[in-house]
This record gives sequence, structure tokens and C-alpha cells, in this order.
Amino acid sequence: MNIIKLKTKADGKDDVKVLVIYTGGTLGMVYDAKSDSLVPFDFAQIPENLPEMSRLDFEISVLTFDNLLDSSNMNPKIWVQLANIIADNYTYYDSFVILHGTDTMAYTASALSYLLEDLNKPVILTGAQLPIGVARTDAKENFITALEIAAAQTHNRPIISEVCIYFNSVLLRGNRARKNESVQFNAFESENYPVLAEAGIKIEYNKPYLKHYDTDAQLKVHQTLDENVIILKLFPGITEKVVRNVLEIRDLRGVVLETYGSGNAPTTEWFLKLMKEFIEKGIIIYNVSQCNGGRVSQGRYQTSQYLQEIGVVSGADITTEAAITKLMFALGQSNDIQTIKKILRHSIAGEMA
Ligand code: ASP
Repeated sequence: MNIIKLKTKADGKDDVKVLVIYTGGTLGMVYDAKSDSLVPFDFAQIPENLPEMSRLDFEISVLTFDNLLDSSNMNPKIWVQLANIIADNYTYYDSFVILHGTDTMAYTASALSYLLEDLNKPVILTGAQLPIGVARTDAKENFITALEIAAAQTHNRPIISEVCIYFNSVLLRGNRARKNESVQFNAFESENYPVLAEAGIKIEYNKPYLKHYDTDAQLKVHQTLDENVIILKLFPGITEKVVRNVLEIRDLRGVVLETYGSGNAPTTEWFLKLMKEFIEKGIIIYNVSQCNGGRVSQGRYQTSQYLQEIGVVSGADITTEAAITKLMFALGQSNDIQTIKKILRHSIAGEMA
């Protein structure tokens, strides 16, 4: 993967340097008549459609993935690869913008927030709902503003020093965001954490909610994510056979259990017995609410008290996207059940409170 420097107004003196990593996604897609669908396309057409890039006064370089992706094909190996690309270029570049499809952007942002421990530079993911070549595209504003946020500094320090998603005028903490809209331009929301910045005629940062820049932080990149996990969403009528079959999957180590409301599950005898049996066998159960807002509060109702007693781990106000990637991360860190549970109970990168 080669890095190409774009033409901008940077004058070579103390310029901020931004590395764009182009993974694919609608932003750079074109219509393919043969398959009658949108397919990822090479980077060159992006600056062609966005001459405004050349007016920016910082350095922009681009690294393009060899295989451009619709983000529905994203996977944990590529997350580790992305984290390593950032680490390899961390000293030279001041910040990173990842062009990514919207479908799994919140998962990628969450995974990167765990893999890049002690990150101290901006990593901004963005994309678009319409390709950049379409007249009414949202790609131009999203990309330009993501670049500006990535390059923004005060007193020679980046304003942002965490993994974020910028989309439709708002900057969100990446591991708090989720895609909640597939048609309108406001694709992402962050129900349980305030917006980090809003872009109007000025970009207004919500300073109290930004991760603090840490002068001593040294980036550490983690390399292991364990894929032996599953998301099990409860629904009225779920049967013992289904739950048992899920829990018996070979090599399964962890389950994100999507429960009702504030973390409630049925108190049917078979369900509780099954949970207990598999927790005793070493399966980690991570309790996440099906609600977008609010939090899991195990013990508040009788229907969650038993979960607490048998050792289900509360996910508090975490999203499912942040939870499943955190489970992969925690299982990659240790084989010791208590250590894994401890990682899950605490915030790693501001994904829960
Ligand atoms: N399917 C596309 C993707 O996630 C959707 C998008 O980019 O908006 O790559």
C-alpha cells in the first residue's frame, strides 16, 4: 500500500500532516451498470470531485487499501491491520482520517478505540450516504470537515485525541456511536454520550466531554481480537432449544446478551438454569440493553437480579457495537475469567460510564 501526497496549500513549514486511509464505502463508490449496484472505486476520483481539498492549508497524504471494501465485509483482521497502519505512521503524521462505509463504521471505531491504547492523536472516521460523484452528495462536507477536525490544534496540540466519527455536522465519540438511519443524511447517533463537536459556520467543540490530551501517553497497539463471540437478542417466545444451541457453539467464549429495558431477562426456570450452567463452564455473558438510551442496572428488577447473582457482567450504558468488539478485545487479552470480567466492567476508552 503506497502513500500518495495530495496537492494542498501546505507550504512545507510546520504543516500539520494528515494521513487519509481509504478503506472503501459509499463515499467513493460508483454505479456499476453490469451488476446494477454501487461498488467501491479507486481514490483518484475523490479529489477530482472535491477540488476544495487543494485549498486546505495542511498536508494530506492518502493510503488506499488494495481491496476496497463495502464495509459489510469489514472484519477483525482488518481492524488490527488498520491499527497497525496508524501505529506505523504515528510518528510522522499528526492525525488520521479513515474513509469507511457507514454500515459497520461504529464497530470499526469501537474496535480501534480499544486496540489503540493511549492514543493521543485524532483518528476520525467518516463516509457518506451518497457517492461523491452524485450532485446531492453528503460526501464533500463530511470529508472536508473531518479533515479540518483532524488538523485542528490549539497550542500545538490536537483538539481531539481519540477515535471519533464525523458525520452530518456532528462529531461523535466512535465507541458511543451507532448507525441508526440508512436513508437520511443523519446516519449516526450517540444516545448515551454528548456530541463532541458541531460544525456550523464554526466548528464548536464540546470541551468538557473530549478525552484529555495526555502529554506522557505512548501509543500501544494491541494485536489480538477473539472472534469466538456472538450477539444473542432476547425476544418474547425465544425457546430453550435456540438458547442452548447458541451456548453450545464450539469454541464459543463470550455472548453479548441483548436484554430488555434496564437489563431484564425472563425468569423462566430453563433460561436461568442454562445461563448458570454455561457461566459455570466459563462462558462470559455481557448484558447490554436493547434500548438505544439508558443503561443496564442489574438488580433493579427481580428479572435482572438473578443475572447479577450468577455472574452476568453488566454492560451499563454501552452500545451493542462497542460491546461485541470489547468482548473480542477482552477475550484476546486473557484466558482468566476474572481478568476478562474486570476488563468488561470498566471503561477502556470512554465507551461506558
Ligand atoms: N454499504 C455501504 C458500506 O457500508 C454503505 C455506506 O457506506 O454508507 O460500505
